[in-house]
Amino acid sequence: MSTAPAATKIWDQNATPKHRIQWCPGCGDFGVLAGLKMALAKLELLPHEVLMVGGIGCSGQIRNYLNGNGFHGTHGGALAYALGAKMANPSLTVITLAGDGDTLAIGIENFVHICRRDPAVALIIMNNGVYGLTKGQNSPTYGLGMDIKEYSEEAPPYVDPTRLAIVSGATFVAQSFSGNPKHCAEIYAEAFRHPGFALVNDFSPCVTYNKFNSYDWYKEHVEDIPKDHDPSDKTAAWALLDDFDRRGRLPLGVIYRAPRRKQAHQRLPLWEEELAKADPEPLFRLFR
Ligand code: SF4
Ligand code: MG
Repeated sequence: MSTAPAATKIWDQNATPKHRIQWCPGCGDFGVLAGLKMALAKLELLPHEVLMVGGIGCSGQIRNYLNGNGFHGTHGGALAYALGAKMANPSLTVITLAGDGDTLAIGIENFVHICRRDPAVALIIMNNGVYGLTKGQNSPTYGLGMDIKEYSEEAPPYVDPTRLAIVSGATFVAQSFSGNPKHCAEIYAEAFRHPGFALVNDFSPCVTYNKFNSYDWYKEHVEDIPKDHDPSDKTAAWALLDDFDRRGRLPLGVIYRAPRRKQAHQRLPLWEEELAKADPEPLFRLFR
């Protein structure tokens, strides 16, 4: 029997009432939250089957707004915690929810190496080009779409997480726009089902501190990936990114998905049986 209606009800009931959410009204992260709930319900996942790992920043708070299992770690560390959790319990659906500053500045080494390792962990970057929580300093993705003639140490070029992920070995690379939560849900569901590391770079406007990359700006610049694009072809994925760049457009959908299939956790150094034999007591004592 399908658990879809039950799953939908559970994620809706588990959600924090809107008035207790601390994001600014209109923040793009509301769209990500809506898409996330729809994706979890669509996959008929129940809260005990999911771990949401939040990064630090406005985006990381999303983990507090759904009562599934959650973990909130240090700045830049979300992917490391997610990987550890997946190694300890491979049956969990592990979803990392982090910002652009968190992932692509202090956390960039975790990002590159998780792309290389390719564990079955998903990452949604709520990309807004700024550090919203600390009042809007430029992040590594600041400058998207701006006509910047000359870069400087203070204003270096935009870091494109999709290109970085592909060159680093990621096996699922996609983009979404939080102004369209239904489309987000489709892409997130694909990412959560992917048997390796799955990146979704979500354009999520910061309505308070990034006045350039607004909803209207995104609506003019996003464009669905053509239906005839073959995401399993890495050369085609690269050509697609170049083509969209040339035309000043941002592709939405699955850019690259490696054709192979694998049991990801079997390639990791710490297996379930090894963990079962480990004695965590000395470690726990340090925290008592
Ligand atoms: Fe959202 Fe920006 Fe407000 Fe943070 S500061 S909650 S990212 S709109
Ligand atoms: Mg940000």
